[in-house]
Amino acid sequence: MVSEVLKANELYKVDPVFGQHSFNNHEQIVFCNDKDTGLKAIIGIHNTVLGPALGGTRMWNYNNEWEALNDVLRLSRGMTYKAAVTGLNLGGGKAVIIGDAKTQKTPELMKRFGEFVHSLSGKYITAEDVGMETSDMDLVREVTPYVTGISESKGGAGNPSPITAYGVYMGMKAAAKFKFGSDQLEGKSILVQGIGHVGETLVDYLTKEGAQVIISDISESRLEAVSKTYGATIYRGSNLYSEAVDIYAPCALGATINDDTIHQIQAKVIAGAANNQLANELVHGPILQDRGIVYAPDFLINAGGIINVYAEIAGYGKDEIMSKTQNIYNTTLEILNNADIHHITPNQAALEVAKSRIETRKKEGNK
Ligand code: NAD
Repeated sequence: MVSEVLKANELYKVDPVFGQHSFNNHEQIVFCNDKDTGLKAIIGIHNTVLGPALGGTRMWNYNNEWEALNDVLRLSRGMTYKAAVTGLNLGGGKAVIIGDAKTQKTPELMKRFGEFVHSLSGKYITAEDVGMETSDMDLVREVTPYVTGISESKGGAGNPSPITAYGVYMGMKAAAKFKFGSDQLEGKSILVQGIGHVGETLVDYLTKEGAQVIISDISESRLEAVSKTYGATIYRGSNLYSEAVDIYAPCALGATINDDTIHQIQAKVIAGAANNQLANELVHGPILQDRGIVYAPDFLINAGGIINVYAEIAGYGKDEIMSKTQNIYNTTLEILNNADIHHITPNQAALEVAKSRIETRKKEGNK
């Protein structure tokens, strides 16, 4: 064990990029730097076997550049499998801009970022993620066509977050059906962590169905606004993971299911929008399963957004967006049942479906 740790540390020193665990066979990583606008961004292109790498841009005040690199690599890998499991002809990519979206995001910075995206000639197509608005994508659109999630008035499919929330709601209902025998959420206690673009719409669906919704966020003003609009209860405790709720919906940032939290979690189902909820899928997936907690794979149930932005490329309309997103219910139930039958985690079961689609396409391409 000690020698394995030493080996890993050595690898870290010798191969700081290709040797990183999160590198995970990425095709290309692009570091974008512009002194004039203060832009520091990283674009990760994980896999383009099924199509161009599509994934949103996140702007976040990372503690250091390693954290940003690790985040973009984990996110772009997730996009590969999200598109594949959803049946879309897209590869996986993602971008991060290092900085505070509230104070450092300027139109010049966004356009400069767009120029870097353009330099990849369509191999990477961007969209919104945390810290981004539809108006930011409109700015990017001024310098490149390789952007989705632009305003409906400019011919785009608009903000993908409400569709993401609908897909998460569908996935959550399927997970409830699997765990509780019914997909009715009326009366279920559901803790939504992060009530931003996706979380708020999810709260809307859940309260309309009569669930007892508890909300948590680092923004007090959001908590008050969402609580007032939907009648949700604000969480005021000190450790939300140990809260005895039926369902925990992580809708803030990733890796909230980690070594510190996993044994505290009292929820019976986990279903939320955040990407990469499991800090280490190989470790934390099996622990959840052993504890009888049903985990709806994040990259499966949060695919509504990508279904929405892909409509701009594939040319389908609102009805197809909604029916494809609604189908997340059937796919989730199928994956949970398969995982149960084959004694693997839901995450593994979803990954297998995604990987097999990519392998099949690769073989077809090589013929
Ligand atoms: P957002 O930035 O609009 O909302 C995130 C919210 O989480 C904010 O209100 C923020 O204050 C809150 N937050 C941040 N840290 C927190 C913490 N430690 N505890 C509680 N709250 C915290 O982002 P969003 O677009 O709603 O996306 C939410 C998550 O869903 C992200 O992980 C994103 O990658 C993922 N996701 C979003 C989409 C989409 O269509 N927007 C699609 C797929 C996945």
